[in-house]
Amino acid sequence: MAEQLGNELCNEHFAVTAQAPLARLTTFRVGGQAEWLALPKTLEQLTAALTWGQSQGLPVTLLGAGSNLLISDRGLPGLVICTRALRHTEFDATTGRVTAAAGEPWSSLAWKAARHGLQGFEWTIGIPGTVGGAVVMNAGAHGGETADILVEAQVISPDGTLTMLKPEDLGFRYRTSKLQGSDKIVASAIFQLSPGHEAAAIKAATATDLRQRRETQPYHLPNCGSVFRNPLPHSAGKLIQEAGLKGYQIGQAQISTLHANFIVNLGGAKASDVLALIRHAQSVIYERNGIALETEVKVIGEF
Ligand SMILES: Cc1cc2nc3c(=O)[nH]c(=O)nc-3n(C[C@H](O)[C@H](O)[C@H](O)COP(=O)(O)OP(=O)(O)OC[C@H]3O[C@@H](n4cnc5c(N)ncnc54)[C@H](O)[C@@H]3O)c2cc1C
Repeated sequence: MAEQLGNELCNEHFAVTAQAPLARLTTFRVGGQAEWLALPKTLEQLTAALTWGQSQGLPVTLLGAGSNLLISDRGLPGLVICTRALRHTEFDATTGRVTAAAGEPWSSLAWKAARHGLQGFEWTIGIPGTVGGAVVMNAGAHGGETADILVEAQVISPDGTLTMLKPEDLGFRYRTSKLQGSDKIVASAIFQLSPGHEAAAIKAATATDLRQRRETQPYHLPNCGSVFRNPLPHSAGKLIQEAGLKGYQIGQAQISTLHANFIVNLGGAKASDVLALIRHAQSVIYERNGIALETEVKVIGEF
């Protein structure tokens, strides 16, 4: 039996908050409220929140660090489960195995792995997502991707069943997996790195990657990373730059002056401004180059 305390509904197993602002849970800092929000700290709390949502017949949306999402200004109906408080890591310096809970910041694993002399996480630096989001999105950079290092992912089904899935079960492709849009939740994942390396050398390689990112991407302003997938062999950023759209602005949303495949929130941007800018870039590039740019950022909620 759950008890209502202000806008919180809770019992000993879970707590959910009504009409909770979501903008602060995304790197874009835009979006409305969740009808209900759960921020579980343990697997038990996660399962209890999921069970409660189902008993109420609510649609469930998963949020990691919200670094690849554009959430509508009208917010999201149903239950939003944000995994960022699910934190736990184990590093085995001998075997190179790393186990991490879904909410662990992906980037922080790079420094921790380096301290254990483990090589293979350097490319994750600067990707502001969670372990769960990285598995679902098959996050990648500098020629590395999650699919290459994943051993297995622990996944929860809507009925609460826990299953271990291997990369071959997950249908990994460029920046996507079968988990995207499915009703399964990543609870934790195991990765295989290469053990026995010198910590200082791995830290130096990681620091170089981070410096390079900071010089070429707008880390000083809220954004969602690459807005468009690269229409190979072309680069989305190059096409947008060549169309003269760098700096183009709608409301407080702007195509970054530093990197044309980024849209930045100059302060107080609305999700509708960002979407209007996305549509504008798509139509300019279609007119100019005959290429239909597809979004990498996931646009969710009603616009
Ligand atoms: C500055 C910046 C740089 C970036 N650089 C890169 C880059 O180099 N490479 C790259 O690949 N990406 C990059 N990104 C995009 C983003 O960080 C990645 O896609 C990341 O993996 C998303 O993780 P997240 O936890 O933020 O997921 P979210 O954005 O919260 O969610 C993404 C999707 O995964 C689902 N999801 C999240 N967690 C779970 C879970 N536990 N179980 C089930 N479903 C879940 C969500 O429902 C949603 O569909 C960048 C973003 C920013 C802001």
